[in-house]
Amino acid sequence: MSQDKVVIAEALNGNVRIRIASTTNLVEKARQVHDCFPTSCAALGRVLTANAIMASELKDENARCVSTVNGRGPAGTIVAQANGKLEVRGFIGDPSLYYLNQETQKLDVGRIVGTNGTLTVTKDLGLKEPFTGVVELQSGEIGEDYAYYFAISEQIPSLVSVGVLVNPDYSVRAAGGLVIQLLPNASEEVIEKVEAIRKNMKPISTYIDEGKTPEEIIHTLFQDANVLDEREIQWHCDCSKDHFARALTLIQKEEIEAMIEEDHGAEVTCQYCGNQYQFNEEELKEILEKAKHVENRKRLTQE
Ligand SMILES: [Zn+2]
Repeated sequence: MSQDKVVIAEALNGNVRIRIASTTNLVEKARQVHDCFPTSCAALGRVLTANAIMASELKDENARCVSTVNGRGPAGTIVAQANGKLEVRGFIGDPSLYYLNQETQKLDVGRIVGTNGTLTVTKDLGLKEPFTGVVELQSGEIGEDYAYYFAISEQIPSLVSVGVLVNPDYSVRAAGGLVIQLLPNASEEVIEKVEAIRKNMKPISTYIDEGKTPEEIIHTLFQDANVLDEREIQWHCDCSKDHFARALTLIQKEEIEAMIEEDHGAEVTCQYCGNQYQFNEEELKEILEKAKHVENRKRLTQE
């Protein structure tokens, strides 16, 4: 399987910006990490893909883009995170769902995500305040929800398609995504051309399944496309024991005391990758000391 990547291009005399990603390896890795059944896999894979495409706009390697989807459906919360290096990780509340739409016999992502909730996108660009946009979910099918997000939160008319095909053995057969955005003041002619392309377009996962690369899909859709950039995408969780030790200093100090006295240790599991980190009594005592410092500092700043 070829390396996952996102290719960025412009077309129609610079009036359209296109970003197409192949994410089959990424979604397969997510499936293995979280032991996902097909519909959960498709839902998580679509969010991971759309979020990775958004992160391809980040200029700084350490900047982050995080998407959180919760439509009060059985899937629970879906979270995807990517940094400026396009290292991606994510999780889904319930990975064990396998619902098919009775009419289409396709994986029923909208049903497990639900529509009674929101899509939240947070871009942390290393500035004082991260940028956060929140929109109501439209269909829970993810592609439409991101299109709505771009329209409402960023005022960019966008066409978004994300898709995951799953094999009978539950492994990921093909996954990818596409975002086509019109520049402000695009003419009626450009809008009509994009509309025609949309009507004739196959689902993005079909192109990937046919073995087309993102560049080839771009040139299939837009004959005059000009490729601007290409970036690799991979699954990577940057969690570490130090990271969780710091996180523990921020919880109530009574909770840390209970871990020491009652459990004589603690085990923390990373939600993103499932790695487990053990803390023994000695380590927890050090953390407790640091937690006291944190509390004192908080008290001082409050007074
Ligand atoms: Zn992790």
